[in-house]
Amino acid sequence: MRFSKSFVKTLRTAPKDETARGAQFLSRAGYVHKELAGIYDYLPLGLRVLENIKAIIRDELNQIGCQEILMSSLQNPEPWQKTDRWDIEKMDIWFKTELAAGGELGLAPTHEEPVTKMLKSYISSYKDLPIYVYQFQTKFRNELRAKSGIMRGREFLMKDLYSFSTTEEEHDAFYHQVETAYKNIFDRLGIGADTFQTFASGGVFSKYSHEFQTLTGIGEDTIYYNADKSVVLNEEVLNDEVLAELGVKREDLQSTKAAEVGNIFTLKTKYSAPLDLAFNDKDGQRKTVLMGCYGIGVSRVMGVIAEKFCDNRGLIWPEQIAPYKYYLIGIGEEGTKQADALYQDHEDAVFYDDRDLRPGEKFADAELMGMPYRVVVSDKTLATGQAEITDRATGESKMVSLSKIF
Ligand code: ATP
Ligand code: MG
Repeated sequence: MRFSKSFVKTLRTAPKDETARGAQFLSRAGYVHKELAGIYDYLPLGLRVLENIKAIIRDELNQIGCQEILMSSLQNPEPWQKTDRWDIEKMDIWFKTELAAGGELGLAPTHEEPVTKMLKSYISSYKDLPIYVYQFQTKFRNELRAKSGIMRGREFLMKDLYSFSTTEEEHDAFYHQVETAYKNIFDRLGIGADTFQTFASGGVFSKYSHEFQTLTGIGEDTIYYNADKSVVLNEEVLNDEVLAELGVKREDLQSTKAAEVGNIFTLKTKYSAPLDLAFNDKDGQRKTVLMGCYGIGVSRVMGVIAEKFCDNRGLIWPEQIAPYKYYLIGIGEEGTKQADALYQDHEDAVFYDDRDLRPGEKFADAELMGMPYRVVVSDKTLATGQAEITDRATGESKMVSLSKIF
């Protein structure tokens, strides 16, 4: 991308109610545009980051046999009434709207009900199962507090996966596959070392669910961990019974702030029973399908990464999710000519700052925007047929011959 052709400009100031450093940089560097509290637009560079995060998640989920779908945002109240989640008293985050022709619709805050209802059309026998479906979809939640930038949106992008199994063993085996896939995903996203699978409350049907919590000072959750971090748990399950069961003492646990980037739940028949999603087993018996659900907050992950990978000058994207790998600057007449040629040969990997500005302004924007490598071609570097490459994370520079940069 050529900076001169982009409508996006870097800004000197962030929206004034944006408090976290990463969130301020995302606005100032032109990745997102804030509409209202908890409501954001993703601009070209921000969209590329989101797409890179999605590609990693998609790759890992496809490897364990999941199929991608895209469900509707508008919700028919009927299945939600059957599970008793339509009432605002039961689920206080609903956005609802009215049909011109009469009747109410909801904007999906999650998709357990519609996906269960949809699969009634496709499941009748044990031969149809298991089924693992997921989507990347915009969720709507009327969150009371939305002050953590894109980490808590009223409209946000979630990856939600649902599993449909015939037996507990089949469900458990898949649940473990998802645990491994999530570990791989967070490793590949660059936050694996700081992301812990925690014990969280599991509701009525299973003792625990699991959350994936990433350490960050701006996280809204508090997690507790022992010395070697082999036991990590959420505040809500920090009680004597759970501590005894996990074999840890309260005084051996430390607490820290973290953000929930994902979670996995065993649902058993919580949704399939009221919505009557059943199959005929081998022996002709009719049985209720066993479900699980598995979320990742895709836009929250982007916010967490922006916060964890930045310094006081700007963002520092991990290479695998950076919108472009290189930020290219040409200085002087010959430097600009050579930079133009390099850009034309490597458009996919290069964000080219071809604006008519002083080098100092370009250097500042390169640091703000956080591409992993800055490439400078100037009359000086060209004297030896080279370019200067600077690593955004370490600040280290080296000279590389033009033909060997990319
Ligand atoms: P939280 O406790 O943070 O409100 P949740 O328990 O409501 O999360 P789920 O409904 O299970 O979360 O959603 C799955 C994932 O979506 C979460 O693990 C989180 O990463 C993300 N998520 C949830 N709410 C939001 C939001 N308002 N904005 C952005 N991401 C969110
Ligand atoms: Mg919530």
